[in-house]
Amino acid sequence: THFGYREVPVGEKQKLVGEVFSSVAGNYDLMNDLMSMGIHRLWKRYFVATAQVRRGARVLDLAGGTGDIAALLKDRVGETGELVLGDINGEMLRVGRDRMTDRGNVRGFEYVQCNAEKLPFPDGSFDLVTIAFGLRNVTDKDAALREMLRVLKVGGQARVLEFSEVRAEWFRPLYDFHSFKVLPRLGRLFAGDADSYRYLAESIRKHPPQDELRGMMEAAGFARARYRNLSGGIVAIHDGWKA
Ligand code: SAM
Repeated sequence: THFGYREVPVGEKQKLVGEVFSSVAGNYDLMNDLMSMGIHRLWKRYFVATAQVRRGARVLDLAGGTGDIAALLKDRVGETGELVLGDINGEMLRVGRDRMTDRGNVRGFEYVQCNAEKLPFPDGSFDLVTIAFGLRNVTDKDAALREMLRVLKVGGQARVLEFSEVRAEWFRPLYDFHSFKVLPRLGRLFAGDADSYRYLAESIRKHPPQDELRGMMEAAGFARARYRNLSGGIVAIHDGWKA
């Protein structure tokens, strides 16, 4: 890699999270489509289309997994841009790299197995740092936010796409039914694995809601922290800048 890093040691708890994703890596895309009825593609598109980024920029996509965000970002940074995919799980990174290579995306891509809590990059390395459906899985979210800020250049943006708190009361029972009844069943049927998808529904409920996450970003040192709900708060995009 440009920085000469490949792997950093990861803790026990992180290994556990890693294993959950190893067991789903192969079916990951199919499951995303089934679970969200394809809507995750729209959320991701919007997330990347409205990010603050220019041609030629250097971008870090954390928890980049199978590369959905990075593939979309490529169109925004152009031929001269550089994209670094970081993920704690080697299996997810491998799937991501294979998919990227199949699509002819080779130049300007770099893959780094790393923990978001302790990034192996110098201060001020990136114009934009993104993390989509990843922060939820990170044990020490405050540490991850501080690291995202640290590796940003001054003026750069950090962008988080994550499940959040549904705003409309009437929708909550439906959403709970989908999460706790439909999801594990889909998981068992299509991935032979109900537990990983039960874990998913629980991790969504435990993740800090909109205002709390914005507060965490402010505490980490981000300037102008803000959020926007998508699909009534099923997911939210949080932004912060390095002043
Ligand atoms: N960003 C991709 C997307 O939107 O499709 C993948 C999201 S996937 C739900 C979550 C990813 O977070 C997994 O690939 C997992 O390996 C990664 N992850 C979990 N904990 C992490 C950590 N502490 N540091 C870096 N990546 C982590």
